[in-house]
Amino acid sequence: MEKTDSKELKKQLFSTKKNGYDKIAREELPLMESYCRDYMAYLDAGKTERLCAAETIRLAEKAGYRPYVRGMEIKTGDKLYVCNRGKAVMLAHIGEKSLAEGVQIAAAHIDAPRLDLKPNPLYEESEMAFFKTHYYGGIRKYQWVTIPLELHGVVALKDGTSVQVNIGADNGDPKLIITDLLPHLGQEQSKKPLGSAIPAETLNLLLGSRPMGDEDDSSRVKLAVMKLLHDKYGIVEDDFTSAELEAVPAMNACDIGLDRSMIGAYGHDDRVCGYAALRALLDLEQAPVKTAVCMLADKEEIGSDGVTGMQSAAFDTFMEDLCEAQNVALRVCYENSFCLSADVTAAYDPDFAEVYERRNAAFVNYGIGLCKYTGARGKSGASDADAETVAYVRRLFDDASVIWQIAELGKVDMGGGGTVAMYMANRNINTLDAGVPVLSMHAPYETVSKLDCYETYKGMKAVYLAEK
Ligand code: MN
Ligand code: MN
Repeated sequence: MEKTDSKELKKQLFSTKKNGYDKIAREELPLMESYCRDYMAYLDAGKTERLCAAETIRLAEKAGYRPYVRGMEIKTGDKLYVCNRGKAVMLAHIGEKSLAEGVQIAAAHIDAPRLDLKPNPLYEESEMAFFKTHYYGGIRKYQWVTIPLELHGVVALKDGTSVQVNIGADNGDPKLIITDLLPHLGQEQSKKPLGSAIPAETLNLLLGSRPMGDEDDSSRVKLAVMKLLHDKYGIVEDDFTSAELEAVPAMNACDIGLDRSMIGAYGHDDRVCGYAALRALLDLEQAPVKTAVCMLADKEEIGSDGVTGMQSAAFDTFMEDLCEAQNVALRVCYENSFCLSADVTAAYDPDFAEVYERRNAAFVNYGIGLCKYTGARGKSGASDADAETVAYVRRLFDDASVIWQIAELGKVDMGGGGTVAMYMANRNINTLDAGVPVLSMHAPYETVSKLDCYETYKGMKAVYLAEK
């Protein structure tokens, strides 16, 4: 019998996945750190979809992007953007080839789970004033009590003007909070399942406790709070009717770990991919071969519906306008396009090992995580990219030395998730899901690894620069 060198054979035949720190080039580490610092500043500036869209536009304009207006002539090298109702941003760097040859898209979302104010939010109870909230997206309610919160958004007035609200973000600002029961009286609450221990209708923001006026008067704390709001913003109680005010964690991004290898922040999902998609586009040094398109969508966390969601015709309108400028049919452009649907995935957490399938889990520091499919149960709600599309991305990433892994989100039948991929694929655009693995996803403070953030940025760049 012939003797085989099994060690050599394994090297040749077995999967070569390993920790990204054993792959990344030393000289890339300072670039990674500086990229992550910029990302952290982006997070701090954009804690809501509106603030994130505004920060996106600020950075884009600094990089030479200008608003696209329908009918404008376009030529190779043009850097254009359209902002959809202040909440979603679409950017394009016009390439050398015609749009008939397709575009290279990176699509992410910039909305994140949070607590929205109800239309009649303000009330007084037991001589304290509160705002009623309605949670947005998939939150674990018990995580949102007893943490400092800040409030952002707009109050749209009947005269067509609107007022920007910011309570808690500026230096020295007061914060808001949601109370919880003390352990001494929490015996019954502690017996309840996590999902029902904090009912949604108890997620009320504490606003104040100091009364004004005569002691025999009523609603004196509510009046004092309303007066403060009126003095600062000129609004009255009925104006809450047409407002979008969002309570978000009052915590900025910071390094996590003694080795500073990770980033903790509110809203990594999905600004970590959004920033990568944006920054990779802004960093293109010259016109790409195919037109590069960055889509930063709103409303993903509640199903991508609505005028600012990925299902909205706003994206098709933007693309059709660009196509028309080159006398190209939109459907021809779409069928030749590729989209990397960039959204976070679940990072393997050894404290909750039972929900993951280790052989198909995404690991921290193993790079950008590709997901052939997301969805739940039997791949329900997944666009399930074809093998050819996965092979295409493997090639792009390997050629650009992008560190990547492929994974599923948790064990089969354990739960699941979805993102904008299916809405891109439904448009007849080849689409693959990919994104940064996150620890404690959807929590008020999520954690990601710096290496994975940076590799995701490199992945986006590889997509924009692809020639085929
Ligand atoms: Mn997401
Ligand atoms: Mn999410």
